[in-house]
Amino acid sequence: MIQRRQTVTTWVGRVPVGSAHPVVVQSMTNTDTANAEATAIQIAQLARAGSEIVRVTVNNKAAASALPEIVQRLHDVGVDVPVVGDFHYNGHILLREHPEAARLLAKYRINPGNVGAGQQHDRNFATMIEVAKEYGKPVRIGVNWGSLDQGVLARMMDENARLPHPRSGTDVMIDAMIVSALESARFAEELGLGHDQIIISAKVSSAPELWQVYRLLAAQCDYPLHLGLTEAGMGMKGMVASSAALAPLLLEGIGDTIRVSLTPEPGASRKLEVEVAQQILQSMGIRQFLPQVTACPGCGRTTSSFFQELAQQIQGYIALRMPEWKSAHPGVEAMQVAVMGCIVNGPGESKHANIGISLPGTGEDPRAPVYQDGALLTTLRGPTIVQDFQALLEAYVEKTYSERVPG
Ligand code: SF4
Repeated sequence: MIQRRQTVTTWVGRVPVGSAHPVVVQSMTNTDTANAEATAIQIAQLARAGSEIVRVTVNNKAAASALPEIVQRLHDVGVDVPVVGDFHYNGHILLREHPEAARLLAKYRINPGNVGAGQQHDRNFATMIEVAKEYGKPVRIGVNWGSLDQGVLARMMDENARLPHPRSGTDVMIDAMIVSALESARFAEELGLGHDQIIISAKVSSAPELWQVYRLLAAQCDYPLHLGLTEAGMGMKGMVASSAALAPLLLEGIGDTIRVSLTPEPGASRKLEVEVAQQILQSMGIRQFLPQVTACPGCGRTTSSFFQELAQQIQGYIALRMPEWKSAHPGVEAMQVAVMGCIVNGPGESKHANIGISLPGTGEDPRAPVYQDGALLTTLRGPTIVQDFQALLEAYVEKTYSERVPG
C-alpha cells in the first residue's frame, strides 16, 4: 500500500485535491481559448476521457471574454468539469476586468516568475490573490524552471557565490524553485488566502531533477502537490519520460493531482495525455479506470498474427463497451483480462485473471481454453473464437459486476 504524504484538502470546484482523496487526473486544452466553441468541444472530450479538471490558457481579453460562453456550452452538453484558468504576465488585469471569468473559473494558476518584477511583482500577485479571496477560489502557485522568478534566482545565486564551497548551479536553481513557490504561498496566506486554498507545483523537464525538487518540496509543506514533468515531448518519448518521472514520486506518496504534458502529433486528439495519466495510476495500483488486458508479447511459438489481432480486438472491444459497462456494472474497471499466445504461460496467466484465453501456439491442438475466476470454463475452437470470447466477456461482466450493485 502506498502511504500518501499528508496534505490539507483543496477543493477545485467540486473536486477535492489532497491526500485524503484519490490522485486527480487533469489536463490542459491547446485550442485558442478565444474560440469558445472549439475550446468547449475539447474540454468536453478531455472530461469524457476522464480528465477530472481541465485547464485553459487565459492569455488575453478575448480569452477571458470567451469563458462565460465556454462554461455555458459545457453546461448545455452536461459536462460540469472544473475549468481552471492559466495566467501569465497579465492575470492581475484580466481577472479584475473580467469578473464573470473570475467567478466561473474553479482555480487560478499563478506563475510567480511571470507576474512582473520587484514591487510590481508583489502588487500584481496581490491583486490576483485579492480576486481569489473575493470569489472564494483556490490558486495553484505553479513554478516552472523555464520561467523561474529571476529576483529569487539572482538572490540565491549571490548567496551561493559567497559560500566557501558553492553548490552546483542546478542545485541552486532547484532550491530557488522551492523558495519561489513557498515564499509565494506564504505571501498569499499573509494576504488572507486560506492555507487550504493553495496547491503547489514546481515543474522541470528532467526526471531526476523532478524527483529532487518534489522530494524537497514535499518535506517542507503540507499543501497538495500538482505533479507533472513539463515539456515531456512527443509520442513514446513523452509517455515513457512521464511514467519514469512520476512513478517514483507517486510510489513515495508524493503527488495529489497529475498532468502528463504530451505534445500531440499534428491533428491528433488531445485526450492521449489523459489516457496516459490514467494508465500510470492504474499500472501502479493507485486507481482503476479501465479493465486491464494482460497479453504476452508473443514469440516464435506463435507464428501467425492471429494472437496479436485477438489482443487488439479484445482491447478495442473493452474500450468500446466501457461507457455502458461503467454505468451499468460498477466495479468493472477492476476487471483483469488475459490474452495469451500459447500453452507455456497461457493457462497460468489466464487463471490469475478474472477471465482469460490461451490461444493455440504453433504445433499445439487448435483449441483455446478459457478460464474464468481461476477455473476452466470452456474451450473455444473454429473461426469465431474472437466473437465467442467477446460473448463470454459480456456474460462475465453481466454476471459478476451486476451482483455487486448495492441493494
Ligand atoms: S505465452 Fe507462449 S507465445 Fe506468449 S511469449 Fe510465452 S511462450 Fe511465447
